[in-house]
Amino acid sequence: MMHVVLAHETDFAGWRTAARSLAPAGVQPQDVVWSVREGADLLAVPAPPPVGAASFSVPRALLELAETAVQARDPERFALLYTLLFRVHAGERHLLDQATDPTVHRVSGLARSVRRDTDKMRAFLRFREVVEPEGTRHVGWFEPEHYILEANAPFFVRRFATMLWSILTPYRSAHWDGETLSFGPGADRTQVPDDDALEAYWRAYYRSIFNPARLKVAAMTSEMPRKYWKNLPEAAAIPTLIRTAQQRTAAMVEQTPMPSRPPRKSAPLPVPEGQPAGLAAIAQEAARCRRCPLWERATQTVFGEGARDAAMMLVGEQPGDQEDLAGRPFVGPAGQLLDRALQEAGIDRTRLYVTNAVKHFKFEPRGKRRIHQKPDSGEIAACKFWLDQELAEVSPRLTVLLGASAARAVLGRAVTIWRERGRAIPLSANATAFVTVHPSFLLRLPDEAAKRHEYAAFVRDLREAARLAG
Ligand code: SF4
Repeated sequence: MMHVVLAHETDFAGWRTAARSLAPAGVQPQDVVWSVREGADLLAVPAPPPVGAASFSVPRALLELAETAVQARDPERFALLYTLLFRVHAGERHLLDQATDPTVHRVSGLARSVRRDTDKMRAFLRFREVVEPEGTRHVGWFEPEHYILEANAPFFVRRFATMLWSILTPYRSAHWDGETLSFGPGADRTQVPDDDALEAYWRAYYRSIFNPARLKVAAMTSEMPRKYWKNLPEAAAIPTLIRTAQQRTAAMVEQTPMPSRPPRKSAPLPVPEGQPAGLAAIAQEAARCRRCPLWERATQTVFGEGARDAAMMLVGEQPGDQEDLAGRPFVGPAGQLLDRALQEAGIDRTRLYVTNAVKHFKFEPRGKRRIHQKPDSGEIAACKFWLDQELAEVSPRLTVLLGASAARAVLGRAVTIWRERGRAIPLSANATAFVTVHPSFLLRLPDEAAKRHEYAAFVRDLREAARLAG
């Protein structure tokens, strides 16, 4: 029996070194016992590989899966990952495609759970101010389900690079002094001060965006699970807001002046000046958004625009280069193609509401060019905060999802476009989603015949969407 002692709970490097050495030596998964050193220290050096090292290539997807799943709070994770790696090395190169394989299924579940935990940490971590001799330090407390602090600390460095901060969790803490990221032992909740100006800010902010007329307690608790409430300053306001929702809705109705004539469902509104106060207020708030790191390099937030009472909403992926500069969605080459297709399908764009799943342009600089990068699931989840508010304000009968990122944002799951394209997907009693391709897909097609064929299919989809939207 072979014993591998890893340096700490997320010692991916130690696991990889040992696994890369054991698999070529033919050491069977059941003959390896994996453990973490008692009183493990992040700076500790991993155990040397137990047998002679040999190198072999491992599919990138497996390494990425392992890097995520290794953060799971499951004592068997190292053994499960070694089983996968051993089988891949033994010739099962496409093992990860077998979703029903018990080990693949279990490890994928661990990775999913880690990703969910990561999203929650990024969304629900709140800092409190602590005045120190070297300046104000922002201290945040979070109780993750998994060992996610180490992998997420660089995200917070990018996001709050100019602040001094510490993130405390029960198993480890991370500290940023403006230049260096360091880790220390775990802490407890009492080390974080209870109240400060930031708490008041969060409470006031939450009260301001809380719309009692749209209160759906089940949806709210699924987005913001109760277990996080105790560490969220704004959560203190929730019970009162829920309790008084009915009263406040009645007051809102009373205060709303009667319109001189009934609003027309399809009245076109000028774009973008015609946005009503609700959406305009949300757009203003989104302009200051820091919920994910994408704001840092983009020029500005590109919020949705269009008719507030649109029966049909189009959701794309994210602004492109030209949208980022113009501050408006779908004005670049893909937008122009969309306009042409809408016209051919007999749809007036000014009667639609057009937006993106992610409101900041994600790109990679290459020389003078900015190359589009697909937003990841964490960024899509972070930005859903704004998309949900647009959907609630506009309340479209039909939401057309242009491409996989938009579909993931609205449907909350990975979507294979060719499988779900062109059919109505119920969202609620009065709302339906409809999946089609993103117009940029048409622009990327290499040959003219394929372009023509796909363009015609896209126009057909838009016609069908118009029919469904009534
Ligand atoms: S992409 Fe969305 S969530 Fe991220 S900073 Fe921009 S507006 Fe906020």
